Amino acid sequence: MAKRDLYEILGVAKNATQDEIRKAYRKLAMKFHPDRNPDSKDAEEKFKEAKEAYEILSDEQKREAYDRYGHAGVDPNAGMGGMGGGMGGAGFADAFGDIFGEIFGGGGGRRGGGPQVYRGADLRYSLDISLEQAAAGFDTEIRVPSWENCDTCSGTGAKPGTSAQTCRTCQGSGAVRMQQGIFSMQQTCPTCHGSGKEIPDPCVVCHGEGKVKKTKTLQVKIPAGIDDGMRIRSSGNGEPGVNGGPPGDLYVEIRIKPHGIFQRDGEDLHCELTIPFTTAALGGTVEVPTLTGRGEITIPEGTQVGKTFRLRGKGIKGLRSSYPGDLYCHIQIETPVRLNEEQKKLLRQFEQALNDGGVKHSPKSESWTDKVKSFFS
Ligand SMILES: [Zn+2]
Ligand SMILES: [Zn+2]
Repeated sequence: MAKRDLYEILGVAKNATQDEIRKAYRKLAMKFHPDRNPDSKDAEEKFKEAKEAYEILSDEQKREAYDRYGHAGVDPNAGMGGMGGGMGGAGFADAFGDIFGEIFGGGGGRRGGGPQVYRGADLRYSLDISLEQAAAGFDTEIRVPSWENCDTCSGTGAKPGTSAQTCRTCQGSGAVRMQQGIFSMQQTCPTCHGSGKEIPDPCVVCHGEGKVKKTKTLQVKIPAGIDDGMRIRSSGNGEPGVNGGPPGDLYVEIRIKPHGIFQRDGEDLHCELTIPFTTAALGGTVEVPTLTGRGEITIPEGTQVGKTFRLRGKGIKGLRSSYPGDLYCHIQIETPVRLNEEQKKLLRQFEQALNDGGVKHSPKSESWTDKVKSFFS
């Protein structure tokens, strides 16, 4: 099914600001919310559509991908997984609070004629973890920036002994009307940036911001099975809002470090397994590494390079799956080096025995021999 343009869904212009996008989404979400439209399939679809559009357009990175590549750039089911490989699905939304709750409960947006209120920006934190950690899950702590009220000015932004004054440009409304041709547009006041206040004598510690940047420690639970590029949202731990708006969110983006032995493909693991050429020819049992320990596979007689053996259930259990994937071992054959004279002699005898005895080479080398024969004839 063809997907509608995201800007069209929200009814905003291509160059809409985040504030406009949020307002448009809120209006639609109110209108089509399932609680208000029980048993309406159409409303439910529209609600979902608006929510998806908002989730992409409210994220600058995803919005950029969408602007550039269209739906393919942000569809987690398409090819490369779009930007960042999706959000980890419903599990995370449940764990960290739905974006819907954040808009309705956060107290953001424009309130009457008062100062303009903005939600704080989202922050991104990259967390490098090992494949073992990703498979098993773990709890960790991260240190992230946080903003606290400035002690010097008690958060007012004004130098102690002075106070903020009503902005003279906008008379405290936070917005000004601009006349452009026949259009009259309301804009954020350029003097006070929407706060409605002016600080003639700013606090020297926080430069009039009222807040100072510190760091705080957050506990983060990394669920077992998480994959590279997935993000975990920590609600309200982004940058603080402007003029009393709600804070943004913090996104912990998972980066899985390359592993020395295994390559991951979703829930499956792949590794190369190098065996001696004698084992390849005669067969035998070899030990194989697994992510959690070791396993064993039986190599049949006459095993060729590139043959793959599967160890069921020795892969990774995905976030939403009940069973772990498999481990695929791709056979490589080791050619012996630095042979002594005695060993070389035995190998030459062996070679001769092959030629004399008509012992079958592998199907591959037979066809190779045939090809060479017909080439020379
Ligand atoms: Zn201060
Ligand atoms: Zn102003």
